[in-house]
Amino acid sequence: MDLSFTPDEERFRAELRAWLAANPPGPEPEVLDDWVAYGKDWQRRLTEAGWCGIAWPEEYGGRGATIIEQIIFQEEMARAKAPMLINLAGLTMGGPVLIAHGTDAQKRRHLERILRADEIWCQGFSEPNAGSDLAALKTRAVLDGDHFVVTGQKVWTSFARYADWCMLLVRTNPDAPKHKGITFLLVDMHAPGVTVRPLKQISGDDDFNELFFDEVRVPRANVVGAVDAGWDIAITCLMHERQTLTFSRQLQSRVALDEMIALAKRWPRGDAAASAVPLVRQALAAALVDSTAMQYTAYRNLTKVLRGGVPGPEGSVEKLLWSEMYQRQLETALALCGPHGQLMPGSPHAPMDGQWPHLLLYSRGRTIAAGTSEVQRNIIAERVLRLPRSG
Ligand SMILES: Cc1cc2nc3c(=O)[nH]c(=O)nc-3n(C[C@H](O)[C@H](O)[C@H](O)COP(=O)(O)OP(=O)(O)OC[C@H]3O[C@@H](n4cnc5c(N)ncnc54)[C@H](O)[C@@H]3O)c2cc1C
Repeated sequence: MDLSFTPDEERFRAELRAWLAANPPGPEPEVLDDWVAYGKDWQRRLTEAGWCGIAWPEEYGGRGATIIEQIIFQEEMARAKAPMLINLAGLTMGGPVLIAHGTDAQKRRHLERILRADEIWCQGFSEPNAGSDLAALKTRAVLDGDHFVVTGQKVWTSFARYADWCMLLVRTNPDAPKHKGITFLLVDMHAPGVTVRPLKQISGDDDFNELFFDEVRVPRANVVGAVDAGWDIAITCLMHERQTLTFSRQLQSRVALDEMIALAKRWPRGDAAASAVPLVRQALAAALVDSTAMQYTAYRNLTKVLRGGVPGPEGSVEKLLWSEMYQRQLETALALCGPHGQLMPGSPHAPMDGQWPHLLLYSRGRTIAAGTSEVQRNIIAERVLRLPRSG
């Protein structure tokens, strides 16, 4: 593995770093409605400067960036503490799926709007009885002339309340084996019969939602790929979600670890700084070991992709490592500040503006989203280690 960068790659980094210095994202608003407006503005600014969807081919508004350039992009964004992109589902799943499987009309209709965050996308996969066992999904779509009529319920749909389009998995053939008979449909969230109900999370946020579809009419032209053949497209989506997102997140958690170390040096514990306490030092060292292992795991997977592979089941290793490491890291962050570590945002004496307890509560979901830790372990056992299938 060669970890040095070519002069072109260094130029790419310098150009991006200069742009970020001249166009800082600014502080993130705490209220979700305000954050959404801020996120749309940030993504539009990035797009106008040619820094959004950089992996997309140039003909669709991207830069055709190499994988190394994408990594540099993520490193610089993490370094600049840039916010998560508001239209992440569209950029990392919807857009790439349309580029690979969409019709010309679908590409023309959607790609530019996804890039500019003019329209926000959400991922309508999970249902009350179909999460880990996604292929058990029951939301029905029945053909009626040139429309499908969709009825059913989805749950845990991130940002659905702000979304204009949903990548919806529906059952179009109830008689086929469960992985067959599923279709990938693009649904207009403003269509009659779509109801969105926000769900309150343990962290106090409400970016999750329930989605109800009551005989929603969806043009047949909104099918992506072929009718009854949506399962493979859904799996490609999930692999992109696990791998690309985890790479950027491990970089963000490295930035957070550096902040923890800096804080430990100035946060008082007794007569000295927290960094003088042996248990704190050990916990920080363990966090550094975790983070370095994560970084090299990410690089190893990257090497495979660079050699011509596509994101594969190894993404599960990264996802599992990162989501569990992130929770340990935040627990360490809280512990190093003693009782003050518990103070939530808004409290005058909260270290790091109370962000850490909030993130710790939010981080619980990370070992569930995009496949739970148990499911990742099953995938690693069966598809990476080639162990026999569990019962
Ligand atoms: C932060 C977050 C964001 C999300 N965003 C979205 C979104 O935008 N769109 C969307 O469609 N979904 C989303 N989800 C839903 C997510 O995909 C599901 O929560 C996840 O797939 C697990 O499904 P479930 O909640 O139904 O749990 P279940 O599948 O019911 O699992 C319950 C428990 O059983 C265990 N389990 C299940 N099967 C097995 C097995 N075979 N072997 C061992 N253990 C098993 C699980 O690990 C878990 O501990 C999000 C979830 C979170 C937390």
